[in-house]
Amino acid sequence: MADKRDYYEVLGIEKGASEDEIKKAYRKSAKKYHPDLHPGDKVAEEKFKEVNEAYEVLSDEGKRARYDQYGHAGVDPNFGAGGGSPFGQDMDIGDIFNSFFGGFGGFGGRRSNPNAPRRGADVETQLVISFEEAAKGCKKTISYNNIVTCEDCHGTGAQKGTKATTCSACSGTGRVTVSQRSPFGVVQTQRACDACRGKGKIISSPCHTCNGNGRVRKARKIDVTIPAGVSDEQILNVSGQGNSGINGGPSGDLHVFINIKAHEIFERRGDDVWCEMPITVAQAMLGSEVVVPTLDGKVSYSVHEGTQPGDVFKLKGKGIPHLNGRGRGDQYVRMNIEIPRNLNSKQKKAVKEFDGALNDKNYAKQRTFREKLKKMFGD
Ligand SMILES: [Zn+2]
Ligand SMILES: [Zn+2]
Repeated sequence: MADKRDYYEVLGIEKGASEDEIKKAYRKSAKKYHPDLHPGDKVAEEKFKEVNEAYEVLSDEGKRARYDQYGHAGVDPNFGAGGGSPFGQDMDIGDIFNSFFGGFGGFGGRRSNPNAPRRGADVETQLVISFEEAAKGCKKTISYNNIVTCEDCHGTGAQKGTKATTCSACSGTGRVTVSQRSPFGVVQTQRACDACRGKGKIISSPCHTCNGNGRVRKARKIDVTIPAGVSDEQILNVSGQGNSGINGGPSGDLHVFINIKAHEIFERRGDDVWCEMPITVAQAMLGSEVVVPTLDGKVSYSVHEGTQPGDVFKLKGKGIPHLNGRGRGDQYVRMNIEIPRNLNSKQKKAVKEFDGALNDKNYAKQRTFREKLKKMFGD
């Protein structure tokens, strides 16, 4: 634990970064190190773990605040394993936390009622798919962690057979009014109730499963359908599969961040597919039937006589399906004429003979280029 890097440093962000900046930095780093994108790379794997750990803490309001205050000790899961954590575990701690550090303050009590229903937080996860899976759509099982209502106590945090009682110190509001003397007279401020730590409830026998939090972290698996035409870095929203709500509030969503693996032959530009086709000099000069790979399999194409390097032909409708729409993009094939290398003396002789047989009629660019030169230098 001593060697842990600063979480902000891990994600490459400033300490005051916004939620959005944290999310963006996470997506970028997770993509950079995702094990599925770097098979067998141990360093990337470690980095990926580190990035996820940093994100888990910094994306959670309560954990982030604890981390900012206490460093790694404030968020180390081992620290509170015996239920002895002074911080509570894995909760959407916003309100409890505010109570520790006076967040309710005199600023209008952002969370005025600790018992009001609140929506659970959204959960972010990464998914790596192949080029073809993105093009054709696929079904995937996604594993991720979320925070759900504890089944053993149904979210009350109280051990079976016992009940949470309303805090008498604050009558269940979670807040108390304090009078303080100041140079301007007596000032009344509200702050979190110490007796219940702002929860409004007292749990005398906490549920063993959730340590009285009413919520537990759970590994989950769900099946999702990835639509054909999904693009790299797109975010799929799976409604209601994020963290469970609090006090009966609705669940958050699961955000699936799509990473598409690079393809050996194809390159995607929007919904069009591009590829390079190496052909021989003779094929370019004489024309030839070639086999072109497409998403639908091999197709045969006749390269025309006199094909030039960089010439592009289009295979209509052989691209990526438009997402949630009809039709598909096109495939573009760029001709890459390979000049033979490592010629032996016999081959060199044949080329020289062949070259000697050519004249200006065989070339469109040679003569015009010479004319341009003449114009430029006048001789
Ligand atoms: Zn429980
Ligand atoms: Zn209280």
